[in-house]
Amino acid sequence: MSEFRSGFVALMGSPNTGKSTLLNRLVGEKVTIVSPKAQTTRNKITGIVTTDYYQLVILDTPGIHVPRTKLGKYMNDQAYSANRDVDLTVMMIDAVVGIKEQDISNIKALLSPFFFAAINKIDCVNEQKIHILVEKLVDLNVPRKSVFPISALNGTGVRELTDAIVAELEPGPKYYPDDMITDRPERFIASEIIREKALYCLSQEVPHGIGVEIEKMVPEGDLVRIEAVIFCERESQKSIIIGRNGSMLKKIGTISRHDIESLLGSKVFLGLYVKAKKDWRNSARMLQELGYTRGD
Ligand code: GDP
Ligand code: MG
Repeated sequence: MSEFRSGFVALMGSPNTGKSTLLNRLVGEKVTIVSPKAQTTRNKITGIVTTDYYQLVILDTPGIHVPRTKLGKYMNDQAYSANRDVDLTVMMIDAVVGIKEQDISNIKALLSPFFFAAINKIDCVNEQKIHILVEKLVDLNVPRKSVFPISALNGTGVRELTDAIVAELEPGPKYYPDDMITDRPERFIASEIIREKALYCLSQEVPHGIGVEIEKMVPEGDLVRIEAVIFCERESQKSIIIGRNGSMLKKIGTISRHDIESLLGSKVFLGLYVKAKKDWRNSARMLQELGYTRGD
């Protein structure tokens, strides 16, 4: 039997080119939030594909774009740093939009034997347009065999792209358990938002001994359903966090929901619960060690 192979793959490209859609298709479940609005993916999102023969760890990076704000700069740094840490980069190009100035400079910066270009959304254009884009990429020194016309939406060409990615993998370890499809940084950010809002609303009444666990975060039609638990250490803290007739918890929930909605770019249903558990910190650390939450 041949050796197990593994590697890290970054999906790069301008906002809206279909990176999240491709990631979701590769992983086979909805991992990140796909939105017609640009710039909703604010962090490196990892999707994991594990088979008997290989493991692909995929980073869906925020699109590279010209930074205008500090946040924009941060997101670009995230995109470039993802690129430095990976075995293979797949640059997405929107077949409808074509190859932009920004794409050309990114291709020049990223071109290497471990660089693929995926021309996405070919379901929206004709053969001739695809041909022109392939030739443009070849003119930019991207090898023909490294160019993949695909439709992330309906799956055309995705098999060929996956096979080519897998062919580039080196023998390597299984970085994550078999049943893990993502390390869920969006969950982590959502829990941080709730924690921050709780501390803000509670001011000095409850010391920093609270933690937040996202128990559930699933797309449901147009919205995302999130169920989260605020852990504190004592029963007396629990009643402060809940407040009179639940008013404090409601306030924390409302302002958290607003921020999470803008993070995810979609409507959110947020169910918040409070639990007093003396050693919640230790169990949270245990979860993190098991790889269920991420502490960065
Ligand atoms: P990202 O910003 O690069 O992550 O792009 P998304 O994956 O969020 O996709 C942006 C928009 O393009 C969404 O409305 C997707 O449904 C759409 N999209 C992505 N891939 C395809 C495709 O292959 N064909 C078509 N027609 N639309 C696509
Ligand atoms: Mg995205």
